[in-house]
Amino acid sequence: MKAHVDRDKCISCGLCASICPDVFEMDEEDISVVIVDEIPKDSESCSIDSQEGCPTDAIIVDE
Ligand code: SF4
Repeated sequence: MKAHVDRDKCISCGLCASICPDVFEMDEEDISVVIVDEIPKDSESCSIDSQEGCPTDAIIVDE
C-alpha cells in the first residue's frame, strides 16, 4: 500500500501528519509529504483515515 499527496491541493491543515505521523510529515513549506515508500502495516488504517479526512482530497492511498 502506498500514499501520495497532491502538493497543489494541500492546504496545510496538518491533519494527516497529526493522525498518521509515520507516513505523513509537513515539509519546510508546510505542505504534507509522504515519508515512506510502502505504508507500514500498522499505519494502513490511519493512512486511509487521512485520505478520507483530508479536506481537499489531496491524498491518494492505493494498493
Ligand atoms: S490532510 Fe490534506 S490538506 Fe491537510 S495537511 Fe494533509 S494533505 Fe494537506
